[in-house]
Amino acid sequence: MLTINPVRSRPVLTSLERLIGPQRSDRLRKAAAEIQDQLRGGTLWHVNSTPTGGGVAEMLRTLLPLYDELGVRSRWAVVSGDDAFFRITKRLGVALYGSDGDGGPLGPAERDAYLSALAPAADQFVDHVDRRDVVILHDHQTAGMAPLLADRVASVHWRCHVGVDEPTDASERGWEFLADLLDAADSLIFSVADHVPARLRHRPVRIQPPFISPFDAKNVDLPADAVRACLAQCGLDPNGEPARSPLSVETAAGGVRLLSTPTVISDGGRQLGEPLITQVSRWDRLKDMAGVLTAVTDHVPVGHLALVGPDPDAIADDVEQGFWYADCLDRWRKLPPAQRRRVSLVSLPMADQTENALLVNAIQRASDVVVQKSLAEGFGLTVAEAMWKSRVVVGSAVGGIRAQITDGVDGYLLTDPADLRGLGRIITNTLSGAVDRQEIGARAHQRVRDDFLPDREVTTTASMLAPERM
Ligand code: UDP
Repeated sequence: MLTINPVRSRPVLTSLERLIGPQRSDRLRKAAAEIQDQLRGGTLWHVNSTPTGGGVAEMLRTLLPLYDELGVRSRWAVVSGDDAFFRITKRLGVALYGSDGDGGPLGPAERDAYLSALAPAADQFVDHVDRRDVVILHDHQTAGMAPLLADRVASVHWRCHVGVDEPTDASERGWEFLADLLDAADSLIFSVADHVPARLRHRPVRIQPPFISPFDAKNVDLPADAVRACLAQCGLDPNGEPARSPLSVETAAGGVRLLSTPTVISDGGRQLGEPLITQVSRWDRLKDMAGVLTAVTDHVPVGHLALVGPDPDAIADDVEQGFWYADCLDRWRKLPPAQRRRVSLVSLPMADQTENALLVNAIQRASDVVVQKSLAEGFGLTVAEAMWKSRVVVGSAVGGIRAQITDGVDGYLLTDPADLRGLGRIITNTLSGAVDRQEIGARAHQRVRDDFLPDREVTTTASMLAPERM
């Protein structure tokens, strides 16, 4: 199945140009003109497997309106399949992250089921494209469309947002599944150089990290009272109670009504004077929320920890999240009372994306330390989001996070993601006053401004399509 995802146009170009200044704005407009030239009146397509949730959808919601304003025709197609398809793609994704996951096979039967699910989507897609079009397929869910589209459009590019630093048997099985399908792609795009598997290094490969949108409800500036109101909804404002009726919050991106209340597991919430330590993530093994909980309760003497993720009951396409949430809850219940009091588990409502984004925004902004203790990571959007908000981020030295944070300069890297004591030491040190959090935060903000804003996406796409590369 394939649907064309309509994107609500939100003007961002003027604000972006103000942010990046005249030189970068000039490069941005030139790049857009080059893309238009290359398309010769055709369309630039992005294809992924979900209209909401996850990093790719976040990016496309910003990128397509920007292209629109720049005069580049772009569209977003979403492929979907049945439960069996998503079971296989979940297994494949976990394998590409280097793990065995449910231990199920990725053999010929799974390949057949995967390709059979994608074939109707490709058939439908062919009705929408013409020979001038350029197609960017995102991640393993859509890779199987490359051979089905190669003769129908000007070029097909496959963009990979996942990966593992050191190959494992599981990741090799994942690449075995995909490799010959990718032969049909004109080029491959990875977020991190280390994630390019040896078997694909002879192909045209481009390294292109994702970006965040400073104008989205997730990242837009928030007045202090909006931050406080959102925190109170999550039991994280020591001075405030959750509002009883729907709450309206004014932001620079417009007013947002908070209609639903997060589910908060806590023993009295955050106390007055407690610094806030957070990790915002999906409830996933690779995000290791449980590791953060243990590191803070065992090795950080002060502060309140908020583990924040989506409401696991609201996520239909990823049953594992319920499992990992329950695991955290179980560990929380077993903590001694004095430690349990220091931890809140916050599940955010998912019905309204803007509301969800606003709550994440407020929690990140209010945090004294933001942790991203991933065991593997493509590019950590949460890391870039918190750095944009001038927070001190402590991230595992894995995948894209290693390139996002310069250790000791604009954040901190945890060399061994399994080192709970080490994580505790960095957090304690950061909260102790020994670290100039303002200075680190200011550099973190500047890093995102320099390298992870949407104009980079347009300029790198222009160079990907430049004639000498095709
Ligand atoms: N996110 C969210 N609500 C949540 C948890 C996460 O909106 O409850 C967002 C988060 O802000 C980020 C994205 O989901 O924009 C996750 O992207 P990231 O690259 O960090 O990890 P992924 O989930 O793609 O592995």
